[in-house]
Amino acid sequence: MDEITFDDTGKAFNSKSNKELKEAYFLFRLINNPLMVKAGKMLTPIMLAMRLPIKTILKNTVFKQFCGGESIDECNKVLENLDKAGIGSILDYSIEGKNREEDFNKTRDEILRIISLAAKNPAIPYTSVKLTGIMKGSILEKLSAKKTLKGDEKELHKRAIERLDQICHFAWENKVPIYIDAEESWIQDCVDELCEDMMKKYNSEKAIVSTTLQMYRHDRIYYLNNLIGKARSEKFFLGIKLVRGAYWEKENLRAMEQGYNSPVHITKKNTDSDFNKAVSLCIDNIDIVSLCAGTHNEKSTHFLLKKMKEKGISPGNTNVYFSQLYGMSDHISFNLASAGYNVTKYLPYGPVQSVVPYLIRRAEENTAIAGQMGRELQLLINEIKRRKKNKE
Ligand SMILES: Cc1cc2nc3c(=O)[nH]c(=O)nc-3n(C[C@H](O)[C@H](O)[C@H](O)COP(=O)(O)OP(=O)(O)OC[C@H]3O[C@@H](n4cnc5c(N)ncnc54)[C@H](O)[C@@H]3O)c2cc1C
Repeated sequence: MDEITFDDTGKAFNSKSNKELKEAYFLFRLINNPLMVKAGKMLTPIMLAMRLPIKTILKNTVFKQFCGGESIDECNKVLENLDKAGIGSILDYSIEGKNREEDFNKTRDEILRIISLAAKNPAIPYTSVKLTGIMKGSILEKLSAKKTLKGDEKELHKRAIERLDQICHFAWENKVPIYIDAEESWIQDCVDELCEDMMKKYNSEKAIVSTTLQMYRHDRIYYLNNLIGKARSEKFFLGIKLVRGAYWEKENLRAMEQGYNSPVHITKKNTDSDFNKAVSLCIDNIDIVSLCAGTHNEKSTHFLLKKMKEKGISPGNTNVYFSQLYGMSDHISFNLASAGYNVTKYLPYGPVQSVVPYLIRRAEENTAIAGQMGRELQLLINEIKRRKKNKE
């Protein structure tokens, strides 16, 4: 085992005042209750649609915990605080559920703005893009199912690819690497294809474009092996962000409703095992792979630390990044950064009502499973107790 431990809550919550710590504690106590999360998931979109004044409540609670602000400027304070601790920020313009060309263009322009900022600011070492933020999910779904596009769909898709290419080209020009997020399996084939095209085009000298692999899918180890083979034979670098995957229940539900085999593992153990296998594959091919481990899992983090040590990869080697979502697992991020590892936080921002789907996913991820207390809540309690004891 490596020498790093994640128990130091003093380090993890150093940037939080007592007041902020208590606010986080009350929020996690609330979302620890599955009934509260279910009610919130159902009622929040209804209340927003009815224009009930809940924006301020959301902004001061769950939004404040998991997002940097409503605009890039509002994120500055969080960005500076993370930077002071040696943690980079990945500004993530988190608009979801938009479907019009003008929204897609707006998101593209916002990402180009982030790249410009990142080029001048080492506190923003990476950027990210979610393809359904710049193109229609229905077209990605059709193409993934090998259906032909009809009518104006072809033109819309052409424009969507142009938007993606503009983003990746600008990232390449400015030497700011970019992660392309992974989405639901029924659109992911097309996303994979586009990621590969962009990696081939822009990764001839180093990994500027990274794809994301969701290791809850049982085909991803096979896919990764193939991708490594392609990169070696066609001579391009691979950017790989590994995650477990955010849509496990949705994937199973759709597969059940439509009567096909679910593409995701049934047991958590198999997801965990594939995640670590993928880590090994990336580290064994580190001469052509830039890896980002997007995880809050302590065991997987320790596993990667062990693999780095075995291979003689130094903590500061920029081919390996650890990344967590803002508002989660500070005990991992801050302790790793203080030991000299490359750490980033995904820092979503955008108008409160547009990030609601993201906030619901975070609340669901942090709710209690089988009556157990959530880990974030336990860590906050430990820190509150530690501060109290130090005062005595
Ligand atoms: C930096 C970063 C970037 C991210 N980008 C993306 C992205 O592009 N696309 C995306 O989909 N997600 C993304 N995520 C979200 C990510 O998928 C979830 O945060 C992640 O699944 C939580 O898992 P964990 O590795 O933190 O560990 P854990 O908390 O140990 O694992 C929880 C995960 O295990 C899986 N799981 C749970 N139960 C089972 C079961 N019974 N059988 C099989 N598997 C199970 C699920 O994926 C669940 O989310 C990102 C996360 C981070 C930190």
